[in-house]
Amino acid sequence: MATIGFIGLGNMGGPMARNLVKAGHQLKAFDLSEKAVAGLVEAGAMRAATARDAARGVEFVVTMLPAGDHVRSVYLGEGGLIAAADKGTLFIDSSTIDVPSARETIAAAEAAGMDMVDAPVSGGVGGAEAGTLTFMVGGTPDAFARARPLLEKMGKNIFHAGAAGNGQVAKVCNNMILGISMIGVSEAFVLGEKLGLDAQTLFDISSTASGQCWSMTSYCPVPGPVPTSPANRGYAPGFTAAMMLKDLRLAQDASRTARTPTPLGAQAAQLYALMEAAGEENLDFSGVIKLIRGEI
Ligand code: NAD
Repeated sequence: MATIGFIGLGNMGGPMARNLVKAGHQLKAFDLSEKAVAGLVEAGAMRAATARDAARGVEFVVTMLPAGDHVRSVYLGEGGLIAAADKGTLFIDSSTIDVPSARETIAAAEAAGMDMVDAPVSGGVGGAEAGTLTFMVGGTPDAFARARPLLEKMGKNIFHAGAAGNGQVAKVCNNMILGISMIGVSEAFVLGEKLGLDAQTLFDISSTASGQCWSMTSYCPVPGPVPTSPANRGYAPGFTAAMMLKDLRLAQDASRTARTPTPLGAQAAQLYALMEAAGEENLDFSGVIKLIRGEI
């Protein structure tokens, strides 16, 4: 049994923290939302008064925060977790954030004599609840080996992606593929429909031909072919267009930093930004098909 500080108990962090409690670990939980903390205390965690309090006297600290600015402000500086935690603490940041913030925070932790990994996830709220998340981990082999047993209580597939920040690199690259492929599948289904080809027939052909991809076979943006896809429930998320836009913007930041052209990634970001401008960012990201149909 390990002692763990857990900071950020939102849609993802809440169920992840509960899975650690269920596995028998001792948690000190903190969030700016008192309601979120109360939920974890009810599940068996201890209440921490502040983020720094959650990080004191524990072997591990897990953070699941919205974005890079939150991670930097929680970890860095005199009032941050790195200054508060005991030497030897292992930090695991599972937030999806920009690569430079991840690398800077990990370097600061290492300079202070601690270990840290970036460990963003995919799998959404359903995966967090079921403990089946995929973790993409960046950091030293030693830090990865220490983090792994905890990550296995929250996820099913745990990948070491290489050095610090590489977890975030894997995450933005994967989600850029996903955002682009969802738009491609949506365009093809709308075009097929307009030309008189019904969606199920196109699905039957394309899902066994070279157009096959996850956006089609697991998450088809038209109702019918994949009964579990959000298209069958009015595009209720799932994974919102707002979340996809956040990740595509991170991919664009990364592409500028790396001076690598990602023209389709840029177009994808623009299309999801149009969904946001239309006030539809809380639809599932597969709702981008409505934009292509001219419905929003
Ligand atoms: P969320 O907004 O539901 O939760 C974030 C939590 O952090 C909130 O409860 C908020 O009160 C808390 N918080 C913010 N600043 C804080 C601070 N300074 N100290 C303590 N707590 C603070 O967000 P979420 O959906 O849980 O997402 C968390 C991260 O996971 C994001 O980086 C997101 O991109 C990523 N992610 C989300 C999903 C998803 O489907 N929701 C999937 C994969 C990855």
